[in-house]
Amino acid sequence: GLNPDLRPDPLPEDRDRALRPQSLDEFTGQAEARANLRVFIASARQRGEAMDHTLFHGPPGLGKTTLAQIIARELGVNFRMTSGPVLAKAGDLAAILTNLEARDVLFIDEIHRLNPAVEEVLYPALEDYELDLVIGEGPAARTVRIELQPFTLIGATTRLGLLTTPLRDRFGIPTRLDFYTVEELDKIVTRGARLMGVPADPAGAREIARRARGTPRIAGRLLRRVVDFAVVEGDGRIDRAIADSALTRLGVDDRGLDGADRRYLRLMADHYGGGPVGIETLSAALSESRDALEEVIEPYLLQQGLIQRTPRGRMLARDAWGHLGLAPPRRPQD
Ligand code: ADP
Repeated sequence: GLNPDLRPDPLPEDRDRALRPQSLDEFTGQAEARANLRVFIASARQRGEAMDHTLFHGPPGLGKTTLAQIIARELGVNFRMTSGPVLAKAGDLAAILTNLEARDVLFIDEIHRLNPAVEEVLYPALEDYELDLVIGEGPAARTVRIELQPFTLIGATTRLGLLTTPLRDRFGIPTRLDFYTVEELDKIVTRGARLMGVPADPAGAREIARRARGTPRIAGRLLRRVVDFAVVEGDGRIDRAIADSALTRLGVDDRGLDGADRRYLRLMADHYGGGPVGIETLSAALSESRDALEEVIEPYLLQQGLIQRTPRGRMLARDAWGHLGLAPPRRPQD
């Protein structure tokens, strides 16, 4: 299974929170999204209106929740947080919506997992700040309309393709978050080390950044583990040697891939000649859920050019064979 230390997980962590940037200025990376958000926030403030509904999509751990919190703070409004799977009934959502104050931010994580009945209630709320509630049952049932305060919904999803079209269409500001560059992660690691009060030399911070899978949440985790090794087995400072030995012992290879990534690649190489292999086959053979493969493992392997998606399934790219220390098989088209 996924190593909980190295994989993004949705649980809030106190130590995560301590490293969490509090303003757009402190937030590193996603330059284009940040520049646009700055304009939308300023405009909403100047007009005294709720900011338009915003959808963040992209792999876990890239800063969707963090940005939503920052937006609320910069708008000067309350931040309310829930998630798709938690909102089981229409009434759950209604209770939250009717308690919002004017221009508040409501953040719904995993919004692709909203129950359809809850989603129905959301549409008029998003469009007209109105709630249509059915009271009572059977012949006595009637609908009451409740006026809501204007608010901003910020949705987050790792799976844009699973959002229904009507829901997707109701977001005025759809924003894609991409994997971070090594330079950006370097800044994040360096800032994190400073906040933790741990001396880190540039090559040490860079090594962690290079192996953080393009993901700030993983960079934070790896940083804390390297600090552990530096404190117990080194002199408490982070340099390249201690970073390298700690990360290698944690199973994070030179390219930042972890055990689950390598298992995926090896399975394709050893048992399927590099593919194409269907996702269900990979899921069964690896005992990983299809969602975990599609949301967590594959996006980074695709971005790194280690695998390709074809209509007939996944295929290993040439680079992956080299990374596994194997020779690619001869193919007819070679
Ligand atoms: P998501 O909601 O996309 O899964 P989060 O917003 O929860 O991701 O971010 C995961 C962790 O990574 C947070 O604890 C935060 O501290 C850190 N993080 C995310 N983006 C950044 C960033 N741009 N700069 C610094 N830290 C970040």
